[in-house]
Amino acid sequence: MSLTRRALLPLLTAFATLRGMAATAAETADLFRREFVEAAFTMKREAEQSGDQPYGAVVVLDNAIIGWGPSRVVVDNNESAHAERVALRDAQDRLGRADLAECVMYSTSRPCAACEQAAAAAGLARMYYGKDATDAGAPRKG
Ligand SMILES: [Zn+2]
Repeated sequence: MSLTRRALLPLLTAFATLRGMAATAAETADLFRREFVEAAFTMKREAEQSGDQPYGAVVVLDNAIIGWGPSRVVVDNNESAHAERVALRDAQDRLGRADLAECVMYSTSRPCAACEQAAAAAGLARMYYGKDATDAGAPRKG
């Protein structure tokens, strides 16, 4: 299964898309929910407040958040504890399975290649990501 990525600019403008794929109105209404964007940014703030890198992500299934991911790279001394992978692991723990088909991820910034690969390997259906002002131009670290 291929992972559909869509760039999301929640605090700035409307949707932008990658790979020439456009979100239909129905997809937008069904899958893109502001509350989930806000939850991802809540995770980002949590990471910042704990002294970690400013990234957050959540995993959603059936319009409910099942995975919460503040970046934990610094807190856990783990270079792979990016927000997206923390959220994936949390969702997998809660579901009791590795397969995250039908799940959607919201991340505050563009995932690194390793996180995108992890999401695709888990069968994630879709990923929305944003890029807020504090992330603009910054190297992706976590
Ligand atoms: Zn990553």
